[in-house]
Amino acid sequence: MSKINTDAVTFIGERLCLNFANTASWHNREQPIERLINYETLVYWSKQMEIITLSQEKHLLEQAEISPHQAEKALANAIELREAIFRLFKAVATGQQGNSLDLAILNKYVNQAYSFVEITPKNRGYAFTFHKGQQEMNCMLWPIVQSAVNLLLSEDINRVKLCEGEPCGVLFCDVSRNKSRRWCSMEDCGNRAKAQRHYKKKINQK
Ligand SMILES: [Zn+2]
Repeated sequence: MSKINTDAVTFIGERLCLNFANTASWHNREQPIERLINYETLVYWSKQMEIITLSQEKHLLEQAEISPHQAEKALANAIELREAIFRLFKAVATGQQGNSLDLAILNKYVNQAYSFVEITPKNRGYAFTFHKGQQEMNCMLWPIVQSAVNLLLSEDINRVKLCEGEPCGVLFCDVSRNKSRRWCSMEDCGNRAKAQRHYKKKINQK
């Protein structure tokens, strides 16, 4: 089996679709660093995000062994969707209108995802599921699509931000009460900004 890049997994986006967008590092740079280096990493990431079950994970990895070409295609689809999600939410975060081509890509996956939707009984109520499509090699994309749609249509869209540490490119939903989050993390871009401020202050004092 191909080596898995565990670095792809972060939860700093606070929403599934944004965690997915963050699977490339330095995403706002001309050449970001790709963390989804292979299909196996995409499957691993999906299991960590709890959008596939253990048996689905096993099935998908077996499928990837049997048809590596299909796995490659599924990874390419995932990256196409991720880039569209990244650009759409970056536009949201910077107060711009999303690109119609990106919206067309998202809509293509919305159509695919919703062709698998079933309303099933759950406890005393009902649940929205993608059970029908759970054997598909792209099955992890359906809940991601759903997360993107939910966020785009919710009030929380106003909380979507791009890390201020350029060209970091991390997207997150600012869940802090006073909407004060500015960085992907304080240890990362937050610290860098602090060091830069400190440096500038020192220079100005000279
Ligand atoms: Zn950052």
